[in-house]
Amino acid sequence: MVVVLEKNITDKQFENIVKHLEDFGFAVHKSTGVEQVVLGAIGVKPDFDIRKVKILDGVAEVYKITEPFKLASRSFRKENTEIKIKDVVVGGNEVVVMAGPCAVESEEQIFTIAEIVSKTGAKILRGGAFKPRTSPYSFQGLGEEGLKMLRKAGDKFNLLVITEVMESNQIPLIEEYTDIFQIGARNMQNFGLLRDLGKTSKPIMLKRGLAATVEDWLMSAEYILSNGNKEVMLCERGIRTFETYTRNTFDLSAIPVVHKRSHLPVVADPSHATGLRDKVLPMARAAIAAGADALMVEVHHDPEKALSDGPQSLLPDQFEELMKQVKLIAEVIGRRIN
Ligand code: PEP
Ligand code: MN
Repeated sequence: MVVVLEKNITDKQFENIVKHLEDFGFAVHKSTGVEQVVLGAIGVKPDFDIRKVKILDGVAEVYKITEPFKLASRSFRKENTEIKIKDVVVGGNEVVVMAGPCAVESEEQIFTIAEIVSKTGAKILRGGAFKPRTSPYSFQGLGEEGLKMLRKAGDKFNLLVITEVMESNQIPLIEEYTDIFQIGARNMQNFGLLRDLGKTSKPIMLKRGLAATVEDWLMSAEYILSNGNKEVMLCERGIRTFETYTRNTFDLSAIPVVHKRSHLPVVADPSHATGLRDKVLPMARAAIAAGADALMVEVHHDPEKALSDGPQSLLPDQFEELMKQVKLIAEVIGRRIN
């Protein structure tokens, strides 16, 4: 249930409304928008008579949300959520570009790539230190050493950093180094991890699961939001279909679908979505045209030797070309890429 408050509500009226909702058995979450303050009352009670809330002083409107996700829903928050991380805003007018290798491999590698992507206009450096690999015999990441290298490279080239957290017991360590937690596709429904990350205070990028519907994905975001962390961005990275000519099938339509249903920013990852470097540029253009708030792209200066995802990593000059082209597309739809 969503409770829209009157504009000039007093503190006393506010407290009274919250108390009533809690007494009725709801968990109350507040959302302060530019236009209005809204309370999300969570706790499924199909037969609850909403007039009990409508009559309270200071309540402007009450309505039931039929979608199973509440805090992630557009009905709970009309304005887009803007996530501010230092001087970067994800979800505003600017389309933010995150780029870097699949995995941090060495200090030399991450510094070389950080310099390239920062010069070319990326704002956030990506790189995995804990890698979710299909085979236990594949490179699993450098762990804490990798986190240190990523952080140093980010600081040197004035880039924020994002890296994947695979297990709850890694949270305190990764939190020391990263600006944004990444939840990988394979962990989208690891509910214990979602809950634990919901208790942290750093922004989270939640990748769409390999076979997740948009509703599954938003319900996973709901786990994080309902545990307290309101800074969630959703990343479309392709889903499994019967098609084999690409690694995954990039669900571009998920971008406007999520924007309609949810206030959370959407990131598009054409690298994992296609798995092939020559498909990344056209799909990045399409993602920006479809309204993505940020792009995540894998870049490597020597992809032949990359320890993971070399075939989908852009060469530096391809990344430069991508930035040129997506800037033009962004302008056409009234957005910008700095
Ligand atoms: C990654 O970003 O390197 C990654 C493993 O992505 P995904 O979880 O989307 O497969
Ligand atoms: Mn990768």
